[in-house]
Amino acid sequence: MRHSVRRTWRPLSTAWTPCQMQLSEVIYRTRQYFTQVTGESGPMMFSDINTDVFEKRFREENIHTDNPAIREWLDNMTYDTKGLIHLFSWSGLIDANILLSDLFRVPNLNSGQMEPIISALTTEEEEMFKNMMRRLHTIFRYARERDVRVMVDAEQTYFQPAISRLTLEMMKKYNQEKAIVFNTYQCYLKETLNNLALDLEQSYRQKFFFGAKLVRGAYMEQERARADELGYEDPVNPSYEATTQMYHDCLEECLRRIKFNKSFGDTQKVPCCAAIAIMIASHNEDTVGYTVNKMREYGIHPQDRVICFGQLLGMCDHISLPLGQAGYSVYKYVPYGPVNEVLPYLSRRATENGSILVKLAKEKHLLKKELWRRITQGQVFYKPEGNYTPIGAQPH
Ligand SMILES: Cc1cc2nc3c(=O)[nH]c(=O)nc-3n(C[C@H](O)[C@H](O)[C@H](O)COP(=O)(O)OP(=O)(O)OC[C@H]3O[C@@H](n4cnc5c(N)ncnc54)[C@H](O)[C@@H]3O)c2cc1C
Repeated sequence: MRHSVRRTWRPLSTAWTPCQMQLSEVIYRTRQYFTQVTGESGPMMFSDINTDVFEKRFREENIHTDNPAIREWLDNMTYDTKGLIHLFSWSGLIDANILLSDLFRVPNLNSGQMEPIISALTTEEEEMFKNMMRRLHTIFRYARERDVRVMVDAEQTYFQPAISRLTLEMMKKYNQEKAIVFNTYQCYLKETLNNLALDLEQSYRQKFFFGAKLVRGAYMEQERARADELGYEDPVNPSYEATTQMYHDCLEECLRRIKFNKSFGDTQKVPCCAAIAIMIASHNEDTVGYTVNKMREYGIHPQDRVICFGQLLGMCDHISLPLGQAGYSVYKYVPYGPVNEVLPYLSRRATENGSILVKLAKEKHLLKKELWRRITQGQVFYKPEGNYTPIGAQPH
């Protein structure tokens, strides 16, 4: 079992909120622009669209594709033999020296000129963004040197597209040999399976290790209140059962791909960088049991080190300990930071996860039982030993 020290994105990001919201807006508008130009409403990555489609549409609109700025834009799109992956070179985003307002420009169908897809950021906001990127690089570089994993938390839907996109680009950079950077997928959201499938596809096509933490999601009340206040569709699944179904579907999508990689990996036909590492971050015994059964069904063993489990320190030890003893990788999250940041974090966990409080009575009972067992069997200072291979570190 491992302890994983956890701070949320929030301390890093509070000041950068405008940038995250702007970047999330870029992602939204890019999808709209793609549909406007190509007429395709589905995800870009599964669409078979290539640059010819854009050139044809631009010619129809009398936009000169030999204009150097437009030519450069067309040439810089990210695509492979299966088609388009991204309209922009998103890897430019993680280059701390690039200006966001220079990166996100598209040919405007009405004016025929290259124009920014969002209103320009102020110099101060651009500087904040650069600083954030520098800090992220420092963290991920250090983690890679020390061979530890970094789990990037998921936050509210109005920031999350930016966090998720940045994390995926960081994965592309830092997950070349193993999964160091992990993204988080909140299964209480209606769009999560689609987003997860797209990101898995991107990691497969761009050949980097994919790391993901699957959670149910911690901001349900806030999401619903905001959707209600601003009059947009509630992004959260309609019921607890629907969230659980989404969790199961996301897990199966990952297991299916892991099994695929495993069968090819054994014969060295698939590059090892197509590998996947998943953390099941849940305090729900049924979810843990479901995962263990599904792993068995898909022929994925604990020693494959592709699935691990995560619980908060001091919570659900009766789930973590047997998992660890049965050979599964288990991480205990240790909330860490200044008191004024950690206490609100813990109180949020307590209120958002009301069901955990119900489980506490059971935990207290089990702790007493274990204490009694140790006293009666002379194992008061019992310390389990074991060899540990971190999750995602196993080459395929
Ligand atoms: C190691 C770890 C890391 C985590 N990291 C993150 C993170 O990065 N981002 C984040 O948002 N959360 C994170 N969480 C919290 C997580 O999202 C859940 O809030 C928490 O774990 C409770 O879910 P559960 O599966 O453990 O328990 P359960 O009691 O089975 O599930 C409770 C959850 O179900 C969902 N739910 C409840 N009622 C409904 C309803 N009516 N309709 C739809 N859904 C409903 C909610 O998501 C609620 O939190 C993390 C949790 C752990 C253990």
